[in-house]
Amino acid sequence: MSVRPTLAQTGCLAPRESDALAVTEARARILEHLAPVAGTLRLSVRQALGRALARDVICPVNVPAHTNSAMDGYAVRSEDLPAGAPATLRVIGTAYAGHPFADPVQGGECVRIMTGAALPAGTDTVVMQEQAVAEADGRVRLEGSHRRGQNVRRAGEDLAAGRPALRAGQRLMPAHLGLLASLGVAEATVHRPPTVAFFSTGDELRSIGEPLGDGQIYDSNRYTLYGMLTRLGVDVMDMGVVRDRPQALREAFTDAAAHADALITTGGVSVGESDFVRQILDELGRVQFWKIAMKPGRPFAFGRLGDCAFFGLPGNPVAAMVTFYQFVQPALIHMAGDSDPLPVTVQVPCAERLTKKPGRTEFRRGILEAGPGGALTVRSSGQQGSGILSSMSRANCFLVLPAESETFAAGSPVEVQPFEGLV
Ligand code: AMP
Ligand code: MG
Repeated sequence: MSVRPTLAQTGCLAPRESDALAVTEARARILEHLAPVAGTLRLSVRQALGRALARDVICPVNVPAHTNSAMDGYAVRSEDLPAGAPATLRVIGTAYAGHPFADPVQGGECVRIMTGAALPAGTDTVVMQEQAVAEADGRVRLEGSHRRGQNVRRAGEDLAAGRPALRAGQRLMPAHLGLLASLGVAEATVHRPPTVAFFSTGDELRSIGEPLGDGQIYDSNRYTLYGMLTRLGVDVMDMGVVRDRPQALREAFTDAAAHADALITTGGVSVGESDFVRQILDELGRVQFWKIAMKPGRPFAFGRLGDCAFFGLPGNPVAAMVTFYQFVQPALIHMAGDSDPLPVTVQVPCAERLTKKPGRTEFRRGILEAGPGGALTVRSSGQQGSGILSSMSRANCFLVLPAESETFAAGSPVEVQPFEGLV
């Protein structure tokens, strides 16, 4: 795989960020350099939940299998219903769901029918029960005006035999499991989940359970990463904290590259700070350090260590989460074979005035909520420093403020990425 050098001009950057890469450009480059992991699994429908189909599923049968009634009522021949006048027909039997009425229906006859029952031969229309009056001699009077074919679900109207029911690249959600079951399909061929290794870098980091010495802090990035990766359904490989030492880093990178489809690290990608990280990545793979025109999360590394995709995220906890959601998550969804990897965004009026400097796309932590009239509004969830996890933990969305924008008046629409939409 090759990674092109940093774009000098993308045409959409403000002058002061002319050496930085736009968020959308970085995302596009990452996606274009990655392919779905090789290897498929044949899983039972239930086990396939959350996985992406590796092949189209072709309908083996029609759904519905038989033309059937959408109502409780009477199955009739439409030619027996005079336009605008009641019809009186002889009831010759009853059709139940799962117990069809076997005999053909002749002129002047009808069959009492329940919802889901197959339409008896000869009938094409159902008159609902509310428009029928039973008469003493086994007849029924049908009132109101009727349309041929009304209240009837045609065989194959939902899914037609021989046609694709679901396409390769579809991530299987609950409705898809039901759809496969409705076709009698027991198993699906899906992509195997990518294996994703991750570690934190930094001499100051300690893991939960260890005492903190002078100037040391607890590693939080491995916990947010664990949560984000687990929700994506990938296989995770937590490699702990790796010290800022060349040999420790070399061993960790080599180990990850041998076992994982992707490696995510946090920390050590700031300019000037981590020369040996760069030196070892250069030695072991092809990795580019990008300055991305975004806030937070400007330093970011992307490339390959052998067959393993590499993502180097900033160390600041919120910057690590923002870059994960904007770049790594779409990449991993794509690697998992899902053809729809991009985050969902919606336009929502902001509850307050927002200002920013032009030049970088800003991802603000926000709270999306119903305003007094019930319409959605969005506001900031608090302090926006790139290390402030408390405002991140209160947030339920990102506000995405475009690079070139400066001021948003209260009430004006802003782009929002809801976290639920981020998986
Ligand atoms: P770096 O990108 O390594 O320069 O780190 C930037 C900031 O993020 C520094 O204040 C680090 O102490 C902090 N940091 C780096 N990694 C972590 C981590 N895993 N958990 C919490 N804070 C971190
Ligand atoms: Mg560091």
